[in-house]
Amino acid sequence: MTERTASRIKMATCSLAGCFGCHMSLLDIDELLLALAERIEFDRGPLTDLKHCSEHVDVGLVEGGIANADNVEVLREFRARCACLVAVGACAITGGVPSLRNRFTVSECLREAYVDGLGVVKPGIPSDPELPLLLDKLRPIHEVVRVDYVLPGCPPPAAAFRELITALLEGREPVLPRELRRFD
Ligand code: SF4
Repeated sequence: MTERTASRIKMATCSLAGCFGCHMSLLDIDELLLALAERIEFDRGPLTDLKHCSEHVDVGLVEGGIANADNVEVLREFRARCACLVAVGACAITGGVPSLRNRFTVSECLREAYVDGLGVVKPGIPSDPELPLLLDKLRPIHEVVRVDYVLPGCPPPAAAFRELITALLEGREPVLPRELRRFD
């Protein structure tokens, strides 16, 4: 990690193929968020509702794996703009729950979701050309971009976010004790 002694950093988050559970866990740091507002300028993310991050961001947190061509584009732009990129949660690190589809072909998945599956009332696979092209497999983000840190868990506990952010603000390596390294 590069030396970071400045007292204020710019942080952005983005969600790819995830459920926003990791973002909810980040918000669980509760009152620390208010304290962080003094030290962190929040860029892209649900708090600001910005769809793109600034040209230069110090720390970028990515939730979710890569399911489609749109995810690839968003991730590449995000990586290019973030000095330090953190893969947050099982989906970003390994593919997580959405990667369960990797045992099947895209065509089989679409048929199950939109034609043959339980609860389908109007069978028909969406074909709008505006929809992003699905990849053949759900990929973890390190297969497309370089990742600097991982924060494991589904989702990572709030205390893990607290340690990661505090460490980056202090310009030191994060130290996650065993109980914060969750792989479930
Ligand atoms: Fe949701 Fe878990 Fe994936 Fe985070 S790791 S986006 S909580 S499914």
